[in-house]
Amino acid sequence: MKRILLLGGVTEALVIARTLGPQHIYSLAGIGRVPTDLQCRVRVGGYGGVEGLAQFIGDEGIDLLLDATHPYAAQISQNAALAARLSGVPCWALRRPAWQAQAGDDWREVSDWVELIEALEPFHRPLVTLGREPLQHLDEIPPEQFWTLRALDVYPGNERCEVIGARGPFLIDDERELFERRNIDVLISKNSGSTATEPKLEVARERGVPVIVLKRPVLPGVDREFFSVADMLDALSM
Ligand code: NAP
Repeated sequence: MKRILLLGGVTEALVIARTLGPQHIYSLAGIGRVPTDLQCRVRVGGYGGVEGLAQFIGDEGIDLLLDATHPYAAQISQNAALAARLSGVPCWALRRPAWQAQAGDDWREVSDWVELIEALEPFHRPLVTLGREPLQHLDEIPPEQFWTLRALDVYPGNERCEVIGARGPFLIDDERELFERRNIDVLISKNSGSTATEPKLEVARERGVPVIVLKRPVLPGVDREFFSVADMLDALSM
């Protein structure tokens, strides 16, 4: 029987973790909720980079590494691919398909923060849904803009930004109400591909609100890639 180290932190990873018995390990960075009802062991916190992860794989006798992390968590995915190679164990990855723009969408892709700020110039009331990273840029918000920044938890904002804390899944009616009440004129989003956060795109489409989309990072090549939980579970059961 293989011993699996599952790198997670997203809904799909938790679905896989729920199928794993006590000899396996579910690994979380420690920024979200830690499940307490799993049969498998749960490990919380980083490994100290590639070498630390490779060391852990060796020490624990892991023989299959599963990367089911978020599509924008590029560092841990790189570390996983390299550590697996160093340790001589296979690395399989669950790659969540990206959202595709639909008729009526006005999506503007940007690669980084500089491009994002440029793309934001014509707008006044953005809804920023990029997690915590933008918190370090609050002092750069121009006087003519007021941001609503949505993160998992509430953080202090400033006179040009209010931070609201909310965790998905988000309901379409709540998203409609948020856009309406805050008079949102542009949405800023990753292309996470998650159904839990997709309703904001639907509301942007309905209201003709443009979406500035932060491009996905490039992820490393691995031994096997899966695009659905069901396919990965099938492969694990063989
Ligand atoms: P990241 O930049 O790729 O990783 C930063 C560091 O966090 C890694 O080098 C590693 O530390 C540690 N780490 C990340 N995932 C880990 C895991 N599953 N188990 C143990 N250590 C982990 O990741 P991030 O973007 O900060 O995201 C952190 C976690 O949140 C990820 O697990 C991801 O699945 C989840 N998440 C991310 C996003 C997002 O938008 N980025 C959204 C939802 C959930 P060491 O180098 O010390 O090992």
